[in-house]
Order: sequence, then C-alpha cells, then structure tokens
Amino acid sequence: MPRYASVARRMTPTTSTTGSTKAARTGESTARAHTKIVATIGPATEERLGELIEAGMSVARLNLSHGSADDFLRRVQKIRREAELRQVAVGILIDIQGPKMRMGKFEGGARRLDKGSVQTIFEGKGPAKVGEVYFDFAGWREGVEPGHRILLADGQCEMVADEVHSDRIVGHVTRAGVVNDRKGVHFPDSNVRYELPTDEDRANLELARQAQVDMIGISFVARAAEIRTVRALCPGALMVSKIERQLALDNLDELLAETDGVMVARGDLGVEAELEQLPLIQKSIIQASIRAGRFTITATEMLESMIGSSRPTRAEVADVANAVLDGTDAVMLSAETAVGQYPIEAVATMTKIARAVETSQRYRDIPRPAFRAAEATFSNATALAAVQAAEALKIRQIVVFTETGNTVRLISRYRPTAEVIALTPHPATLQHMSVLAHVRPMLFRRERSLEDMLYMASEMLVVRGLAQYGDSIVFVAGVPAAMKSTTNVMKLHKIGEEVRMH
Ligand code: PGA
Ligand code: MN
Repeated sequence: MPRYASVARRMTPTTSTTGSTKAARTGESTARAHTKIVATIGPATEERLGELIEAGMSVARLNLSHGSADDFLRRVQKIRREAELRQVAVGILIDIQGPKMRMGKFEGGARRLDKGSVQTIFEGKGPAKVGEVYFDFAGWREGVEPGHRILLADGQCEMVADEVHSDRIVGHVTRAGVVNDRKGVHFPDSNVRYELPTDEDRANLELARQAQVDMIGISFVARAAEIRTVRALCPGALMVSKIERQLALDNLDELLAETDGVMVARGDLGVEAELEQLPLIQKSIIQASIRAGRFTITATEMLESMIGSSRPTRAEVADVANAVLDGTDAVMLSAETAVGQYPIEAVATMTKIARAVETSQRYRDIPRPAFRAAEATFSNATALAAVQAAEALKIRQIVVFTETGNTVRLISRYRPTAEVIALTPHPATLQHMSVLAHVRPMLFRRERSLEDMLYMASEMLVVRGLAQYGDSIVFVAGVPAAMKSTTNVMKLHKIGEEVRMH
C-alpha cells in the first residue's frame, strides 16, 4: 500500500471522506481563526450546519427548550456527521437554564412603571393590577432587606424595597421603565436562595448525558458545589460556568477552581452589574480564567446588528477584536446565528476579525501568561518549553499527541504563535479541544513507538497541505505511550529527515 494511503487511513478512523466537500478534499480551503467561534443553532441554521462549520464555527450551541428529546438527539447526530465529513473538530454545548427568575403577568400585558410610584410585589402568576407586580418563583422574600434594589424586566426598570412582609414586599420605583409579562427579575444586592440544578435542568442533563454532548453551560451558577452537582449528573462533559450574576463575580475564584471554562455572559451580567463596568469586568474574568488555566467564551450581542444586516457596525467589529486582544479562547453568537438573517455571514465576519487581530504585531506583543506554578508538572513545563522553542525558531506548528487533552490545554494557555496540531485517538477528547484557542484538533491513531508517531504525523501534515518537506515542527508527547502518561518529551524535527530517537 502506498505510504500516503496508509496515512490517510489513519486520519479517518471512522469513515472515508473521499469526494466530500471542497474543504475536505483540499484540507485547507478556508483559513480558520485561532480564536474559536461558538454559534447558537436555531431556526435560521438548523439546516445550514455544514455552512456554519465551513465559515468557522467550532462549537455548536444547541437549545434544549424547543422540540422533543428525539429532535435533540437527531440534531446532535447531524452535527457529528457534518463535522466528520469536513474533518473539523466541532464541540456541542448545551445550556441548562438554572433558576431563571421571572415575573408573572400584568393586566393588559405591558405596563409603564413611573418613577416614585409605590409597587407591591406578591408571589404568583398574576395578572397584576395597577400598583402590583407578581414574581413567579419562590424563596425570594427571605433574602431581600429594606434598601435592596430589585431589577424588573431584565433591568428595564429599577425599584428599591421599603418594607418586607411575610407575604409581600412594598417598594418604590427609582428608574422608570416598561415591564412586560414573564420578563426576568434580578436582585443585585440580595442573597436570594434558589435551587441549581432545577428539576428541569436535571432532566436536560440526563438527555445531554445520553447524547454525549461535550460542554454544559451552567446558567446563573454562583457556587462551586453547584458545578460539582451538575458534573456528577453529566460526567464526561466540560463544565462552562456562565458568569452572569454579581454573586458569581464575587465567588469567581471558587468557581474557577472547579470549572473547566467560563462564559462572560454579558447579557444577564449587564443587568446586575453597572453597564459601564462590563468591559473591565470582561477583562478581569478573562485574566483570572487564564491564570487559573481555564478556557473562556465571550458572549452576547457581539454582532447584534447582523441579525438584520449583512454588515456589522464599527463598534461591533471593535468589540470582537478587543475580546480577542483580551485573550478570550472563543467568541459567541446568539440570536445572530439562531434567528438572524445573515448567520453564515456573521460567523465568516468573526473569522475575518479574529484573523486580522491574530496576524498583527500588536497581538504578538501581548505578554505570554506566566508559568502556572500551581500546575508545576512535567506536562506544564514541557508545554511552556514547546511554545518557547517554536517562537525562538519561528516554527509554525507544535504537534502534540494527547489522550486527555490536558497538555494541549496547557500549551493553548501560553498563547503560542504556532498552531497546535492536537492529535488524539478519542472523539470525546477531540471535541473537548474544539473550544481552545490556537488548537487544531485532529483524530489520529496512536502508534506504538515515538518514532512511528512522529513519522506518521509528519507525513499526514504534508498530505493535508499543512506543512512541506523541510519545514520544522515541535513535537510533544509522553513516554511510555500509556493511557495515563505524562507529557515529558519535546523533540525538534525537520519533516522528511530520518526519525531516530536512540
Ligand atoms: P443567555 O446567556 O444567552 O443564555 O442568556 C448569555 C448571557 O446572559 O449573556
Ligand atoms: Mn444569560
């Protein structure tokens, strides 16, 4: 059998991709950004998954609240197929809703609450008469004290509590606004008790476990114990803590110690925190997350105007670029891709913005994160050495064999200029790495010896058009090549030269 054919076979252990899309045939038709793109799937994109992947989507965010369990499982299968066809690692993220606190209904639907007006809040579904508001959830009165702010309709209107009774709270409106049925309620000053995961979340986590989704976004999380509970219900998935409450910000270190990644959930966070603080909070969360060795997704309204327009605003372009400069691993699209008129264009636009930043000198000048002393391991030291060697020698690729993805996470954390070619035999590991900046995960069989692995990987890079004979690569692996091996070897290699390690 010709050498290339055997390499090609190892790249695709499950199916043949012969004659599939242009991207698969040429290996490298669309230039993907090093920053990853999370796209929310909805009516606008359910039938356009392949296009989304080709435009640069690396993580598909699926909604569990629409359709049946079977619909959901079918959608997961479809994403897996489209990703495999194109030989792109695509992760699947689902969000559990957590304790989303909502108002009840108002008589007449919408209502304007005037500044200074007195409002009495009851528990229940309503409909509320003039001077009344209903909160459709339990347990909120215990945490509220006189003087605390209560935000209605996702922050459209603000009131302050004056009297707290056992069955109602009386307060007055401090910022006028229009409130609608079923809109969200926030308590930025109160320690309101709530349950996470909810019963609904538990059912959804069971479905996520069956579908083997890769990441769980935990809405309104505030405590490490909540992450542990969710993880136990869906083991095998990465935990993404959505930072969207003041309490989560206050407890960020505790959350970072337990979570795999965080989402800067600017939508809900912007209700509880002061809006003008959001850009600084975003930077702080990303920095803390990199320090802790976790990944970060920056989310919400990034290209909002593209819901209805084929081009973004200047401010939106700057927002995406700045998130990349802040060091986020991924940028996220919500309504833009779920229900927008230009979903593919939105992903392609993000790809272009991210690449413009990533290829700039300004980006290269950003100081690399320091060695993470809390992870003083052979793997972490090898990761840093690989990044430094690639940079010193202007080597464009760091090739890593990984069983768990751990070493790849460590390398990604140092934000290498080189691309990390992350080779793993396990689909789950492949999909987990889809969210990491600077990483191109690929399925690859583990060979018996280091020499064989390095040889096969080098040939594969040439076959796929990712490198040429004569190019140098940094090769990173663990010996002995056992399941739980630590990464402890770095070898500099010129492709085409004989591989001898002893
Ligand atoms: P959501 O989370 O889109 O699920 O609300 C993100 C955010 O709040 O920004
Ligand atoms: Mn949210």
